[in-house]
Formats: sequence, structure tokens, C-alpha cells
Amino acid sequence: MKLQFQKMAPYIPFSPMVKLSGVRVFMPFYHLVSDNPPPHVKHLYPICNTKEFSAQLQFMLKHFTPIGALDLARVVQTGARGRKPYLFLSFDDGFSELYSVVAPILLRHSVPATFFVNTGFVDNRELFYRCKVSLLVDAILSNPSLQSVYNVNSLLKLGYTDAASLNDIASQVDVVFDTYLATQKPYLNLSQLKALATQGFTIGGHSATHPDFSTLTPEQQIAEINQCMGWVNHHFPEQPQMFSFPFSDIGVEASLFTLLQNQSNPKVDLAFGTSGLKKGKHSMHLQRIPMEYSYKSAKKILGGELFYYLVKRFLYLA
Ligand SMILES: [Zn+2]
Repeated sequence: MKLQFQKMAPYIPFSPMVKLSGVRVFMPFYHLVSDNPPPHVKHLYPICNTKEFSAQLQFMLKHFTPIGALDLARVVQTGARGRKPYLFLSFDDGFSELYSVVAPILLRHSVPATFFVNTGFVDNRELFYRCKVSLLVDAILSNPSLQSVYNVNSLLKLGYTDAASLNDIASQVDVVFDTYLATQKPYLNLSQLKALATQGFTIGGHSATHPDFSTLTPEQQIAEINQCMGWVNHHFPEQPQMFSFPFSDIGVEASLFTLLQNQSNPKVDLAFGTSGLKKGKHSMHLQRIPMEYSYKSAKKILGGELFYYLVKRFLYLA
């Protein structure tokens, strides 16, 4: 549905849509930026290269004023509004390119950002199961004799609970996840995260092991959040405490936010979903805009979001 709106967006002037929407903060999010997409994400979603990302950033900076986590918390609390809408940028999954590629670009443009990490993956202790899938697909696609044995499309559908199948296939196609982790180091380590925090970036939590929250009970959801945010609060106590739901917040009840808001240890100041321009379930719950599409025009992606948002609002009002 949203794709149809994105197709039409380039023909609609962007600034009037921004004004009409009254949106105070735009919150686009990415995973990583790379000129050489690594095999552990290459088959999962399209990512921006440095040129495409810089062009998107320039478009956003023309229309929005960038703010960091501290200012975002203040804006949410006070309802403050800027001359232009604010821009709050974030990145999920804690990949090493955030340190080597993304942070230098953001620093050059003086743009703050929040990096949401899976605390179970920091220091390359474990590989996210979707990244394992991508690695297996990569091994199969690069070997014609394996392509007749394995169906890549069904492999891409394997889930969180299919760890055993992933390990079986890995041993058959000669992929060793631990070796990949040790040699390629796909994730940030703690000292890189500390260096990013010193540079002014915010480190947030993205769960411990990146499960699909819709498959967890409310108790399991709280346990995942607390395990992750306990680590974040411990290592980055001076920062606003932010949590982004892995995959999405589908299956999360509004009552969970009341629980989070009332607990002080570990603290969670703001939580984030991935539903685009949309109001969250609670005042501490904000929705971000996914930016990783096969086309790379920020005007098309953000314009499509705005157009869709305006049409929905018009229909609800009508
Ligand atoms: Zn994620």
C-alpha cells in the first residue's frame, strides 16, 4: 500500500506536505551504510552506499533540523516545535560499519544519531539468525552445485526457532558461524561503542538476541527489554535510555509501556517502533520510518510516508 504512495510522491511538492502534516519530528532509521554490502546482510534488505546515504542526508538536512536523543526526550516531554521539523536519526543492530562508515559521515555533517544494539551480539559473541540466513544464501548462490540442492526462498523464510536447521545447513555448505564472527567481526565491540558515545552518539538497546516480540509472552518481552537495558544502563548511564523493538512492536500491549515507564531499574525513557509516520501506543512510544528500499530517493521514501499519512488523516477526519 505504502509503495503506491511512494510511486506518486516524487510528483508532489515535499515542503507543503511537511507543513500540512504538522509532524514535529521525523525519525528515519537504517541498519548500515556500505560500499561493499557484507554477506551477512546482503540478501536481507537493500542498503545505501556512502554516496546514496550522503544524498539522503543532504535532502533531510535541507528540510529538517537534526537533534540527538537528549533533545528528542525534551521535545517529547514539552511538545516543543522547531522552525523546521526535527530530524532524529537512528540505526539498528549494532553493525561495525556504524563505527567505520556511518559515524565519520555523520560527524562531517554534525548530525547526531542513536545506535540501537543487541547486547547479546556486542563484541561478536553471537550472530543474529537472519544474518546466518544471509550468509547461507550467499554460500549457496556462489556455488552452482549447491543451488540445485537448496531452495534459497525457503531458506529466507526460516525463523528464530529454526536455529537447529540453520546449523545443519551451515555444516553442509561449509559455513562456520563462529569463524565468521571471529574473522569478519560484523558487530561493534564495547570499546568502539564507548568511542562512539564519546563522539556524542547515543547507544540504545535493541533487545538481547533480536527475537520476534509477537512470539513472546508479556513476561518474556519485559525480561528481554530488562536484560538488554540493564546492560545499556550499566555501560552508558549518562545517556537517555532508549529502546527500539527488534523487527517491530507488533504484539506488544500498551500496558507494557506503562510498566516500563514506572520502573526505575533499568530505566527506559523512550521506546521505538518501525511503523513509519504514525502515533505510538503510549506517550513514550515513538514510530520511526524505515529507509532501506531498492530505490534510494529520500524524497520518494519520506514523501511517500507523508502522502500516506496525510491521506489516512484526511480519511479519518472525513
Ligand atoms: Zn533489528
